Formats: sequence, C-alpha cells, structure tokens
Amino acid sequence: MDNLRELYQQVIIEHAKSPRNFGELKNTAHCANGFNPLCGDKLRLCLTIEEHKITEARFQGEGCAISMASASLLTESLKNKSTEEAEQLFSSFQDMLVNEQPPTDRLGKLTILHGVAEFPSRIKCAMLAWHALMAALKGDDEVSTE
Ligand code: ZN
Repeated sequence: MDNLRELYQQVIIEHAKSPRNFGELKNTAHCANGFNPLCGDKLRLCLTIEEHKITEARFQGEGCAISMASASLLTESLKNKSTEEAEQLFSSFQDMLVNEQPPTDRLGKLTILHGVAEFPSRIKCAMLAWHALMAALKGDDEVSTE
C-alpha cells in the first residue's frame, strides 16, 4: 500500500510540474474562474462543447501541486464526455473526497487523488477545478471554494 501511495504521489507531482491541457481556449463562452482563498489557488477552466459533448478542456492558473494536478487530470478525463457524464463525474469525485465514499469505476485514473481525502485542508485544492467545471457548465463566471 505504501508503494502505491508513493506512486500516486509521483503522478500528482508529475502532473503539477507539467500539467496537461494547460493554456488558453479561444472562441468559447464556457469558461469559469475558480479561487480557493484558503490556499491561494487560482485557475480558469474553459470548455468547448459541441452538441452536449465536451470536445476540448483547458485550464490556466497557479496554485499548489494538488490543485494543479487535479485540474490536469480533470481536463484529461473530460474529453469526449457528454455534459451529463461530466456532471456524474463531478458527483463521483465529490463523493470520494468530501463524502468519504469509496471511489467508483467511473473515476478511472482520478482515483489517484483519493489520498487527498485524508487531508481535509487540501480537499478544497483538489475540488477547485471541479467547481470551476460545474460553473462553466452552468454558465457562471466565478466560483470560490468559500
Ligand atoms: Zn491548494
């Protein structure tokens, strides 16, 4: 189990160092800014949605390793998902981290972040990109974890 935990930490650090889908996404209205005042994490998430399907997801921002890794893993997971599937993914992820539920198969690679549940002060870091996702889907511009 310790080896697995170390492996997960390595994946988180690697994603934080070279986040996937980092950058601006132009020509889309589906963007939201997220802010976590407790830690100072800030990010902006943008989606391209075509016929209820997410074809592109990108983010920009700065923050701790967990917030950046979570955003990176999230954007990887969103591609080619329907907006309904993205909402289900949010619920599963939130259940895993906030509601202390065991991770479901749906989460796939995102279970790497399960360990964050042990650190209540960091849960908001991991959830930030996800709240931005929900805001972008709903058409809200701003979201804060507080
Ligand atoms: Zn943070």
